[in-house]
Amino acid sequence: MSPRILLSAPDVGVAEERAVVAALRSGWVAPLGPDVDAFERELAARVGVAHGVALSSGTAALHLGLLALGVQPGDRVVTSSMTFAATANAIAYVGAHPVFVDADPTTGNLDVGLLAEALATLEREGTPARAVVPVDLLGRVADHDAVEAIAARHGARVLVDAAESLGSTRGGRQAGSWGDASILSFNGNKVMTTSGGGMLLTDDPAIAGRVRHLATQARMPVAHYEHEEVGYNYRLSNLLAALGRAQLRRLDAMVARRRTIRARYRAVVAGIDGLDLLGDAADTDNAWLTAVLVDPDAALVDADAVRRSLDSRGIETRPLWKPMHLQPAFAGSRAFVNGASEHLFRTGIALPSGSSLDDASIDRVVEALRAAVAPRSCRRPIGSDFPLDVAMSAAPPRRRPWGTTTVMVETGRQAITAVATVLERSGAHRIAVPAFLCDSILFPFQDRGWRIHDYPVLDDLTPDLAVARRLAEAGEVDAVLVMRYFGAAPTFAELADVAAIRGAGVAVVADETHLPFTMNQWGADFAYASLRKVLPTTDGAYLHMPSGVEPPMLRRARETGRYAAMASFDSRRGITQHSRIMLDASMALMERDAAPRRMSRRGRALLDTLDLDAIAERRIANARALADALDDVGIETAVPVGSLEVPSHLPVRVANPLAVQAALARADVYCPIHWPRPQGFATQEAWPDDLLSLPVDHRYDLDDMLRIAHELRLVARELAEATR
Ligand SMILES: *Cc1c(COP(=O)(O)O)cnc(C)c1O
Repeated sequence: MSPRILLSAPDVGVAEERAVVAALRSGWVAPLGPDVDAFERELAARVGVAHGVALSSGTAALHLGLLALGVQPGDRVVTSSMTFAATANAIAYVGAHPVFVDADPTTGNLDVGLLAEALATLEREGTPARAVVPVDLLGRVADHDAVEAIAARHGARVLVDAAESLGSTRGGRQAGSWGDASILSFNGNKVMTTSGGGMLLTDDPAIAGRVRHLATQARMPVAHYEHEEVGYNYRLSNLLAALGRAQLRRLDAMVARRRTIRARYRAVVAGIDGLDLLGDAADTDNAWLTAVLVDPDAALVDADAVRRSLDSRGIETRPLWKPMHLQPAFAGSRAFVNGASEHLFRTGIALPSGSSLDDASIDRVVEALRAAVAPRSCRRPIGSDFPLDVAMSAAPPRRRPWGTTTVMVETGRQAITAVATVLERSGAHRIAVPAFLCDSILFPFQDRGWRIHDYPVLDDLTPDLAVARRLAEAGEVDAVLVMRYFGAAPTFAELADVAAIRGAGVAVVADETHLPFTMNQWGADFAYASLRKVLPTTDGAYLHMPSGVEPPMLRRARETGRYAAMASFDSRRGITQHSRIMLDASMALMERDAAPRRMSRRGRALLDTLDLDAIAERRIANARALADALDDVGIETAVPVGSLEVPSHLPVRVANPLAVQAALARADVYCPIHWPRPQGFATQEAWPDDLLSLPVDHRYDLDDMLRIAHELRLVARELAEATR
């Protein structure tokens, strides 16, 4: 498994390690020291402002910035609704009331028209805003010239939350250089990191001095710890400042890398219907995070489904910030809303954007995006109507598929005939079968004149074995056929019923068509199964008797392929009575026919090379992925995915299976219907007529599953339009 691809992991290496070790060795381990001073100088110079104050976090910088701007308890402070909670939290710390303003839909930054309206409204109401805190969303610099002009008209001060935008520019001017002051964050996921840290930047020496004072416990410059007001312990440690200086030296390179990653995403998104980049300003952004917007009407999947699809491929993504006016913590707050931030929240996905990501990782993200949103681009025909390829045969078999008395024959029909023959020897001629099954199972019994009872199948496609059990206990049948559909394993309750049926002296025959890897599961007297449904043999079936030990002769016979030899086998110790009769009957059956009716040599050779565990695993993974994707389309599976042990198909319920089947076939997705109601012997009223079986063969992968869901969504839409 490839390592998980993270959204924005810290990008630190040898240079950072050296810087921290050097600081450690210098003895400046305290939250003050030469690296702090130098870091402040270097960063302020880089952004082009006069002063920097290094602090323990971006949040601390916001907190002290607001205090330094004179924000008082009860004041109104206007900020972006589309932001990380820290912005709004800091406003709450100082006892002010945040007033949220919605976003410009194309950039996600503050809508300046709405900002003007908010400030005018607050002023009119007699509670003018003390300050405005605009945010540079995902690194894109907001229109601060406009914000400053509007704020100035209403006497509000401006503290810019540039936590995400270090390294970006607007009109040639650096992010972090607007407003009365601005703040940066050096959290682990930001463009550059000090592990945790932040900085307040300003041209105003009074603001810088005030913040520095408050950040050091408001300690007066005297020896005896004099404090005239309550302060904070918010300074950045010297060790972390050393890390920050090393990162700052690499800032341009790290931003360049993020821009390269953005360019890759830009190219991919251009080719996919229903995907757009959010607020892409080419090379003036630091490209902190690249976000795509998913238009579910064009993409046919929604953002959440895309996120889950990427997640299943080991790729971390995030929704965009949940707008502050929707957060329970700020439920009572004033908000000027236009719907844009909510829309961005619902449709936006931040993609892995960290500068430490290599090209191969970005390739993986791009591929996963394509598969999730444009599955047609990975198109190939899908369907269980095609002969199975020989897939997953590289690994040597880890276990034999069956370990007890087993006879391999050419077809499932022969296997059933053998079962009927054996049962007849003990006088049986009445069998109970589930009232939903492939009619070919019945033919061998019908041909031989058996009485057939049927017992119901419940809505969740489990045979109602309690009814079969009552038939057995009333002595109305000699045998009961049990089966599970689509590869679901029997439940505990069913096994208890099977035991009771056998206790009543009635033989239990298990149809294991879709469970070829879990013999003996039913505890039945006989099991038979057709192989070609799940395994890539051209043909083949087996009879199976849970006798415990495979007779050596049988094993040898299978190895040599000389089935005739089995008939002359005379020492059958270790075989149960039933198994012995069974063996005799099947031998006789094969001998009676001149034509070679044993399973083909090619089929047997194939079986020996298969990695059955891998096949089962892939089928389960496919079924799960498909069920997940279908959930988004609003299509229900007919059996719980969790019950499928070796899924043959994923059955779903659709209103008109024939029409859906035909429409899917036009898109090269082929799905059988299990089973059309046969004439004559389906007495159960509730024969499920709404089933369509979707392929989950092990030769298909997640991309194919997503495409099936995608095509189904199109078909559903097409059919809805046709019937409107
Ligand atoms: C990261 C971030 C902060 C908080 O910075 P910390 O250093 O984590 O406290 C504040 N505002 C925005 C917009 C951020 O993205």
